[in-house]
Amino acid sequence: MADSGKKKAAGLPLPLMQGLHGEFYRHCAAGRLSFQRCSDCGRWRHVPREICPACSSWNWSWEQSSGRGTVYTYTIAERPMHPSFAERCPYAVAVVEMEEGVRVLSQVVDCPPSELEIGAAVTVDYLSVGPERTGANDRQGEEAGDAGASDSEGIVLPVFRLA
Ligand SMILES: [Zn+2]
Repeated sequence: MADSGKKKAAGLPLPLMQGLHGEFYRHCAAGRLSFQRCSDCGRWRHVPREICPACSSWNWSWEQSSGRGTVYTYTIAERPMHPSFAERCPYAVAVVEMEEGVRVLSQVVDCPPSELEIGAAVTVDYLSVGPERTGANDRQGEEAGDAGASDSEGIVLPVFRLA
């Protein structure tokens, strides 16, 4: 994916860049929406975890998603659940069902919540989040350092656009 689609969004609480979740977000930073896929039964899964929920296999690999999906469901937040979201209200929180069958909790950007529809076709895009304001992680002070929230490159979140 080209970097041209990336936008900055400072102040959001950020995921911890540790373990499998860290690997997921590092794939996003490289412009790849990747999910785990079981090497034994072929099932895709998300959120990241060690064991296949279908066959209990520990064998898996990261595989790149097509980046295409549909809005499975969504809700509109009228009041912020975190101070960094105050200026974004109202905003839609969407569950996107990917072609691979996994569902991703995210947002559909550049789409007024009133125009969002269940079943709408979407494609992935990437939102670069700067390290200068890291929301909840900042409140942990020194612990934020190793958690990736202060990573000088920031974190890239997968978001979606109407296809
Ligand atoms: Zn499996």
